[in-house]
Amino acid sequence: MTQIDSPSVYRADEAGFFGEFGGAALPPFLAAPIAEVAAAYAEASQDPGYLEELQALLAKYVGRPSLLYFAENLTRRLGGAKVYLKREDLNHTGAHKINHCLGEALLAKRMGKTKLIAETGAGQHGVALATAAALLGLECEIHMGAIDVAKQHPNVVRMELLGAKVVSVDAGGRSLKEAVDSAFGVYAAAPEEYFFAIGSVVGPHPYPSMVRDFQSVVGREARAQILEAEGRLPDALVACVGGGSNAMGLFDAFLPDEDVRIIGVEPAGEGLDTDRHAATMTLGVPGMIHGMQTKVLLGSDGEPAPVHSIGSGIDYPGVGPQHAHLEQIGRAEYVTVTDAEALDAFQLLTRAEGIIPALESSHALAHVAKLAPTLPSDAVIIANLSGRGDKDVDFVADRLRSGAPATV
Ligand SMILES: *Cc1c(COP(=O)(O)O)cnc(C)c1O
Repeated sequence: MTQIDSPSVYRADEAGFFGEFGGAALPPFLAAPIAEVAAAYAEASQDPGYLEELQALLAKYVGRPSLLYFAENLTRRLGGAKVYLKREDLNHTGAHKINHCLGEALLAKRMGKTKLIAETGAGQHGVALATAAALLGLECEIHMGAIDVAKQHPNVVRMELLGAKVVSVDAGGRSLKEAVDSAFGVYAAAPEEYFFAIGSVVGPHPYPSMVRDFQSVVGREARAQILEAEGRLPDALVACVGGGSNAMGLFDAFLPDEDVRIIGVEPAGEGLDTDRHAATMTLGVPGMIHGMQTKVLLGSDGEPAPVHSIGSGIDYPGVGPQHAHLEQIGRAEYVTVTDAEALDAFQLLTRAEGIIPALESSHALAHVAKLAPTLPSDAVIIANLSGRGDKDVDFVADRLRSGAPATV
């Protein structure tokens, strides 16, 4: 895995800042163990042995490279640009998260840790991490709000079958925020045993850079694949943004290619004029969350707001600091898609191509459905299909039965 040699504007400084965003604002009891992770990653990322071991796992276990699929039927339906899909849904475990979970688990082993610990909301990160732990012979402890434990029962069962210990957190609102506090509490008490594995390009330095590097294989493959297929670079990249890891993974290799438009798609939920969305880049303000300076959606009490999306992996009131920076320097743009538009795109891809996308990925597809018809037929769009939709089929079927618009 060769790292992209990117201009420094696309790399964090020593303290983990992308311009004014990023950093590591931590209480003293966490500063030392997280600094140890930063030092270990700085070393590992220069070690050919570590990088080759990760590369081998990606090839032989995850099934990389993933396909870059020309969606010909979808292209014909939309009329306009050619649409290619980067098929992260075909990875083992069905989404992009396994890419960074394996990187983090390998780093944990290299540091001599025996246990992985993390929080999870919908459970997707927990399942991917428990998978990596099972493969690499590590223990795994996942903290989850009690409400999420009840709501996401199938993922709790998966994690337990994979050998992970799922800790149900009963404090406060019994949701993701409390799960984060709970997991960090356990971690801080025994950092010599645990490695904290964050599930996106968020949190304190080095996680936004480290998780991006682990995901950047997506864009490196896509860049080579589109050059092979079309003999040129794409006109636009489109990816959904929760914390922003699948998006940074696709975008990273193309950042220096300034003619390639870079578009992140956030959940507008039930509408930007309601309080039921998670459009952090669009409506957020500069602020601090989870140890990083970034954009944040704040409630009237000045705390991170309760957020909503039909895609349970993208309802986060913060965003990776590099996204905030890319927007500020004008290198990337961020748009929104509603729950209803994402549901339409879910059905569109399923019917047109026989590919059932995750509801998160459906946000990217919904924007592609708006963008493609505005571009000429020799234009090329690459959309990141971050995960498969098997996890969502019961929910979607219920929504459609209850009369949500099905306009495709
Ligand atoms: C978790 C998840 C996301 C959102 O996470 P990012 O860090 O923004 O990529 C998107 N798609 C799928 C399928 C997911 O599981």
